[in-house]
Amino acid sequence: MSSSDKQLLDKNQASEERFEFAYAPSLESTDVVKIKARNLNFIGGKFTAPKSGRYIDSINPATAEPLAEIAESSAADVDLAVKAAGRAYGTWSKLSGQERGRYLFRIARIIQERARELAVLETLDNGKPIRESRELDVPLTAAHFFYHAGWADKLEYVLPPSRRQASWTTPPSRQAVRGSAGPRSLGVVGQVIPWNFPLMMAAWKIAPALATGNTVVIKPAETTSLSILLLAEIFQQAELPDGVVNIVTGGGATGANLVSHPGIAKVAFTGSTEVGKLIATSIAGSSKKLTLELGGKSANIIYEDAAIDQAIEAVVSGIYTNQGHVCCAGSRLLLEESIASIFIEKLKRRIEKLRVGNPLDKNTDIGAINSKTELDKIQALIASARQEGPVEFFEPVKTTLPSTGYFQKPCFFAGVSSSFSLNRIEVFGPVLSISTFRTVQEAITKANDTPYGLAAGIWSEKGSKIHKTASLLKAGVIWANTYNKFDPAAPFGGYFESGFGREGGRHGLLSYLEVT
Ligand code: NAP
Ligand code: MG
Repeated sequence: MSSSDKQLLDKNQASEERFEFAYAPSLESTDVVKIKARNLNFIGGKFTAPKSGRYIDSINPATAEPLAEIAESSAADVDLAVKAAGRAYGTWSKLSGQERGRYLFRIARIIQERARELAVLETLDNGKPIRESRELDVPLTAAHFFYHAGWADKLEYVLPPSRRQASWTTPPSRQAVRGSAGPRSLGVVGQVIPWNFPLMMAAWKIAPALATGNTVVIKPAETTSLSILLLAEIFQQAELPDGVVNIVTGGGATGANLVSHPGIAKVAFTGSTEVGKLIATSIAGSSKKLTLELGGKSANIIYEDAAIDQAIEAVVSGIYTNQGHVCCAGSRLLLEESIASIFIEKLKRRIEKLRVGNPLDKNTDIGAINSKTELDKIQALIASARQEGPVEFFEPVKTTLPSTGYFQKPCFFAGVSSSFSLNRIEVFGPVLSISTFRTVQEAITKANDTPYGLAAGIWSEKGSKIHKTASLLKAGVIWANTYNKFDPAAPFGGYFESGFGREGGRHGLLSYLEVT
């Protein structure tokens, strides 16, 4: 960085600081949500005590105090849920698409009406900032139900025209998806989701399954089951027929019992690559369909002609949104060498201003890490990365961390080589690694040098450079001059160790249908 650049940065910073005021706390009230001390499974439309008789605590990660108990379901509980879903399938799959769509629209509208309650509960149970659960998680949850409600009576259009029997000019008949020509539903779908976006992941799974005429048994992550149980109340309020969605809570063993249940026609899993491989092995040889949405180590490439200040904002949100617990987080930043030093300096100054703390405070940028286990894992990876080789480590945030709960300051490493484990292992926390490149080809080679293939970002003013780079990157989602933008109409999913199958868009519906 030239000395004139540095002087300009210092001058701008000084003038900003002159107008800087301390933020007064702005706490979201928790009165809007009533948390039951003991939470039961949701089976056949009713909240049902687990046959196991066992319960586990769900913790508020911002305080490390228990929030509520959830059921720890056994194989017998899973069996009960699969049977309830099987019974409901008989009628649900025979409803017309229009009728199924009506239920989904109703659910979406109630989610909007109860948005505040859902957002507060999500923040309490997960630890993410209220700003994010209010502005990202809950609106996207509603959007997924709205989007798939619109598809429910148009499933004949899921196939591209070349593979469709009806011509474009002849509107297909509005028919049930079972018992007629065209796409057919599969049966009972077993779904397992992670803790990072509990509500949103539930919507990504449940909405397409219901729109296509399937019924569902879903298992949320053990540390974040409360918001999906509130969603179950919304299903009751929407008068969704009993057994169309069933929720069994518990840990990994409950998930394993669900995916191996013989009554399941399809497994949809989102989570770690490690567990994804276990599931793929466990159902190999069965007729179950499978989609896997797994981990990532996504590259964010900044060319020297990029709009740097905008890129800084997106790099920060690309890695630090949701404390970095985002499968497609831009965790590998690739900077063109000519801009590396000024970019790193600006990044440092931007991160200094991030506020880490109480997730219920509307000013908070970075909330609590979801569990002690995850915090320990992140801190161990940071410690080993600092030992691994010659890297520079930065932890610029000025805020003092709260004295209780699980918190981690956002940090970054510069001068990281492709071979370092930091560049290969998914940290799943607020940790960014920075490398540099000199040519377009080197940027592409470095970006593709990963066992994953979930997402990537490209920053340049030149459209041709963006298109050329995008065509050579091996990633399921590629953003240009932005990052972490989600839309239910856009298919999401990965390659290689990031899994297979797509969620969202027309492509996402295909894995919930049999198309002959
Ligand atoms: P995880 O440990 O794989 O857990 C995911 C879910 O699987 C949880 O509900 C978990 O239950 C359950 N589970 C654990 N062992 C199981 C088994 N043997 N059989 C069946 N289910 C089992 O992943 P996580 O740590 O919760 O989530 C983080 C990972 O998810 C990251 O790798 C992230 O990249 C990935 N992710 C991917 C996407 C995507 O769309 N590609 C989106 C979000 C997250 P318990 O938690 O109760 O043990
Ligand atoms: Mg919790």
